[in-house]
Amino acid sequence: MVGCGMIGSAAMKYLALAGVDVVGFSSREPSSYADHDGVFASHYDAGRITRTLDGDRDWARMARASVDRYSDLEHESGVAFYDAVGFAAFGPPGSRYVDCVRNIADDFSTVSRTVRPEDFGIIDFGANTEIEAQDTDAGVINPRELVRAQLILAERAGAEIRYEEVARIEPNARDGVSIETIEGNSFVVHRVLIATGGFTDLSLTGARLQLDVQGRVVLLVEVDQEVASAMPSLIAEDAEGLALSEFYILPPVLYPDGKRYLKIGTAEFNHPLKSRADKISWFHGKGDVSGDIHALRRTIETLIPSIRDRTMRQLRCVITYTVSGYPYLDWLNDRTAIALGGCGQAAKSSDEIGRLAARLFDGDEMRYPAITAE
Ligand SMILES: Cc1cc2nc3c(=O)[nH]c(=O)nc-3n(C[C@H](O)[C@H](O)[C@H](O)COP(=O)(O)OP(=O)(O)OC[C@H]3O[C@@H](n4cnc5c(N)ncnc54)[C@H](O)[C@@H]3O)c2cc1C
Repeated sequence: MVGCGMIGSAAMKYLALAGVDVVGFSSREPSSYADHDGVFASHYDAGRITRTLDGDRDWARMARASVDRYSDLEHESGVAFYDAVGFAAFGPPGSRYVDCVRNIADDFSTVSRTVRPEDFGIIDFGANTEIEAQDTDAGVINPRELVRAQLILAERAGAEIRYEEVARIEPNARDGVSIETIEGNSFVVHRVLIATGGFTDLSLTGARLQLDVQGRVVLLVEVDQEVASAMPSLIAEDAEGLALSEFYILPPVLYPDGKRYLKIGTAEFNHPLKSRADKISWFHGKGDVSGDIHALRRTIETLIPSIRDRTMRQLRCVITYTVSGYPYLDWLNDRTAIALGGCGQAAKSSDEIGRLAARLFDGDEMRYPAITAE
């Protein structure tokens, strides 16, 4: 397994539980981003929205399967990562997004309810807003903690994790796939599953994949818990009268600095990142994001006027889009499989995506000792 992030850690757990000898290669989160010249990840954050109310059937299905397992995962790992504060989709009257979400909710028997804007406490939606809320099986997950939970269970099931960054994968070694790490170690494994997210490149896959990696910046607004108590996660895709039409907001989440932050993010600004150097420099804080920050700030201040004077800070991340809009779960050759492309939506569904990847990888029922050091 190369890459033990949100998808890879889940896949590794399912493979180990299925009795496969599995070794995961992954990179630790750097203590100082500015001084780190290696790979980063898309789960270095404290909050991701989770919900099964979705405008897309397949994403709704993958989310449902994952959310249903959160409580077992928390219980078995001893790691709490889920806060079931609920979710709401909103838009203007006749919003295509809200409509779509309602239809899929009906098809999947997801319990949702229509909410009046005036019942939303501190959020100033304006009277002309349609809101569809999911009170159960939705809210916020902590992506770092979810990965930690998966890795605990993977190790408990016999997986080994090596914190080494992989520099090269060669599928044509005589006895299997050769893996070289930047630490200078080399290994031969029988087969490899690549789940390296935004830092996937040719030296790992050996094939050019149609992956579009985009830099994203989010705005964190420091708040007291009371400012937004009982606030769910929110998504709008066709909002009107705001600086942004497509954005999401997370309720106050506790960050590692001991403070609580509301978070707003959007996919409306494009920051294509082609090379490894582009991506590293993005995480180092390079690249002009003043337009993004201005629009994020104006949107959240309009919706929650009480936060106007609060301290704000930004976080960088990357999103990996596929052509299909769903993760690529496939074999590149008879020894190399991939589980790539979260499309900005995989955090909540990562347990199911990892399970599907593990099934694909383990499909031929062969069992091998996975690794031999050269
Ligand atoms: C700002 C932002 C907000 C988001 N919000 C949401 C949300 O609200 N809800 C939601 O469901 N999803 C959300 N997402 C998407 C979600 O976080 C991603 O889809 C998910 O993290 C993708 O998982 P992954 O396993 O593909 O990648 P990652 O989680 O990035 O994991 C990849 C792993 O591979 C490792 N790696 C990479 N290269 C190498 C190498 N050469 N050698 C060894 N290890 C390597 C990395 O260190 C990392 O651990 C958001 C993403 C961003 C950026």
